[in-house]
Parts: sequence; C-alpha cells; structure tokens
Amino acid sequence: MSRTRRARRIQRVLAQTYPYAVAELDFDDAWQLLVATVLSAQTTDIRVNAVTPGLFAAYPGPRELAEAPAEDVQEMVRSLGFYRSKARSIQALAARVVDEYDGAVPGTLEQLVTLPGVGRKTANVVLGNAFGVPGITVDTHFGRLARRLGWSTQDDPVKVEADVAALFPPALWTELSHELIYHGRRICHSRRPACGVCPVADLCPSYGEGPTDPEAARTLLGYELKPGREDLLAGFMAGRTRRQLRAEGHTLSA
Ligand code: SF4
Repeated sequence: MSRTRRARRIQRVLAQTYPYAVAELDFDDAWQLLVATVLSAQTTDIRVNAVTPGLFAAYPGPRELAEAPAEDVQEMVRSLGFYRSKARSIQALAARVVDEYDGAVPGTLEQLVTLPGVGRKTANVVLGNAFGVPGITVDTHFGRLARRLGWSTQDDPVKVEADVAALFPPALWTELSHELIYHGRRICHSRRPACGVCPVADLCPSYGEGPTDPEAARTLLGYELKPGREDLLAGFMAGRTRRQLRAEGHTLSA
C-alpha cells in the first residue's frame, strides 16, 4: 500500500475512534483560545481550563487584560507554574493585539507569529479552531505519532508539518491534528504505547513498541478510554460537549 493510502486509512480509523476530538482547551472566541494556548506551555490543558474562566471573567478582552495590575494577573495564573513569565506573556500579547490590531486577534499565520509568545504551533491552533483556516498543530504527541506511523522522519516540527501536509488535503489538517493528539494522549503514549488495543495496529510500522498483550495494554489506556469510564465515553459518543460532561459531574482528566 502506498504511504499516502496507508496514512489516509489510518486517519479514517482515528476519525471513527475519536469522532468527538476537539481542542481540549475551553474557549469562546479567538482571543480566549490564543490566551489559553499561550498559557498551556509546560502544563496541562486541564489546569488551564481551571484557570481561564476566572481570568476571562475578570478581564473579558485584551484591553482589560493589558491594563490589569501585573500582580493580580500573576495571582490568577499562579497554579500553572512559571506564573510571572506567563502573566507577562499574556499581558504583552494583549497590549500588542490592542495597539496593532485594535483589540481583534489577526487571522493569518504571518500576523499571528509576530505576536509576542506566539509561535507557529500556537498560531495553527488558533487558525484551525477559531478561524476555520486549515492548520497542522505539531505538538509533542503529533510529532511522535507522525514518526511512529512512518509519516515523517524529522524531529523539527516545521519539517514534520510539511511532511504530513503532503499526505493529506488541507480540509483534513485541523481534524487530523486533534485525532493524532487524542491518540497520543490516550493510547500511543510516549513511554508505553498500548499497542495491544490500538485500532490502527495493523497499519502501524511501530506496532510492538508497547505491550501487545491486550490485557496489559488495556491498563495503559487514558482519559475516556480507561476501563471504568464507559459512561464518559458514551457521553462523548452521544455528542455531548466537554463543558456539558463536566457540568454533569464527569472528570475529564487522564
Ligand atoms: S500500534 Fe502501537 S506504536 Fe503504533 S500507533 Fe498504535 S499504539 Fe502507537
């Protein structure tokens, strides 16, 4: 089978496995997603989701955040670690969005990467999820899986992005980014991938990197695929949003 055909087949299986895959950061608009993505460096989306409702209630837009006292912003993001530099980053970002873009997040890659603290990965997250512009988000999970699945041999995220972009039409880029990141968080872990229960095992050149015994592999599953969390999985499959499921009392953590 050609590399492209195999890659597309893998994507179709992942789409069936995770039809509910979305950005795991909570947001209502491009500004909120931009801030949440910058805050998510070196921490988990779950932690960021715990902080952002209070942050956006106190400072609803870039103007309010830019003008807020630095100590107050630091206090609000303290639980994320590196809180001084994170507070500084989002306030600098807010000031630039106000000064150069009149308070509206710009909608092109070229403009987004000129904002302080915004690299290509963050820009692609915002483009793909808030502007509907196809974008491939190469985070640590995406890079690892692209290599394991034989889609790229590169370590540099920009080169991985180019290799994967050549295998899929742009219309699939954003969705594929979510699916690969979901798969990396739930099944194809960095240390012990759960190969024995992996839905793309028969298409994966790295099958066997983790336990192939289904019993052993099952114990490695994460999030809603974890044994005992069938209700949560059923909720996702039924089309409930992350916020709805949380409001119903489900814990969405690993
Ligand atoms: S077979 Fe193993 S290495 Fe390949 S994608 Fe599945 S979990 Fe990852």
